[in-house]
Amino acid sequence: MAKQTDFAEKAKKASAEKGTKCPKCGTVKTPTLYVNAVKTAGGSYRFNRQRVNVCKCNEKEILG
Ligand SMILES: [Zn+2]
Repeated sequence: MAKQTDFAEKAKKASAEKGTKCPKCGTVKTPTLYVNAVKTAGGSYRFNRQRVNVCKCNEKEILG
């Protein structure tokens, strides 16, 4: 549990400090945890989690 809080705080700090602007759209990129369900050969799903920086260029792809 402590680890989770730690991570949340770090993520908060990171997004506050590293607000990099996208050169294309000028929107500040937001680090977002992107969860992707992938069907395995066995027929079950596993979840790929990756952090992506979301700005206007890719928000529709990422956030739907
Ligand atoms: Zn952009």
